Amino acid sequence: MAGGGRYDYVVAGAGTAGLVVASRLSADPSTSVLVIEPGGDERANPNVTSPLAFTVPFDATTPQKHLANRSLEYHQGKAIGGTSTINGMTYVRGDAAEFDAWATLGNPGWDWNVMYPYYLRSEAFAPPPKPRWRRARLGTRRITGPRGRYGRATRMKC
Ligand SMILES: Cc1cc2nc3c(=O)[nH]c(=O)nc-3n(C[C@H](O)[C@H](O)[C@H](O)COP(=O)(O)OP(=O)(O)OC[C@H]3O[C@@H](n4cnc5c(N)ncnc54)[C@H](O)[C@@H]3O)c2cc1C
Repeated sequence: MAGGGRYDYVVAGAGTAGLVVASRLSADPSTSVLVIEPGGDERANPNVTSPLAFTVPFDATTPQKHLANRSLEYHQGKAIGGTSTINGMTYVRGDAAEFDAWATLGNPGWDWNVMYPYYLRSEAFAPPPKPRWRRARLGTRRITGPRGRYGRATRMKC
């Protein structure tokens, strides 16, 4: 085991949040980080690579006594990458009003204006090669590419 079995930090879960935390912590080469994840590497799994299969991992709870015996649908990934391995080929930002609500509830520094630059830092758009644009209908109302319908997507507050 690297690190002689001793680590500065142990991160439980290699999901979206856990990997960001581990990546930021290990940016300092003097810091050792262990990530524990019960799921495997599913990058070659067709349920991950094909967006057509993105509902396959959806499941439902057992009937919940305190919810009038209703079953609730839940979506959660058990894999390196966590729930981000459920690949619907879509991406949306969190809602500005919800971030602002966090701040209003007594968490200064978690409002939209603070979070927004971090969204920009984590986002990139890789368009298909030009010959495929017509087939993909890029630039039409249906698929708008990096500029979106309301201006440049990376500048859009949603
Ligand atoms: C279909 C779909 C589309 C989505 N689209 C978007 C989107 O467009 N934009 C967006 O921002 N969000 C989107 N989300 C939500 C986003 O994927 C999740 O909010 C995010 O992945 C949650 O990250 P997380 O690190 O909290 O949890 P997860 O990514 O679920 O990671 C948790 C990890 O912990 C592991 N784990 C669990 N228990 C233990 C344990 N006891 N010990 C060790 N490891 C454990 C799990 O195996 C898992 O890998 C979408 C979700 C779904 C299902």
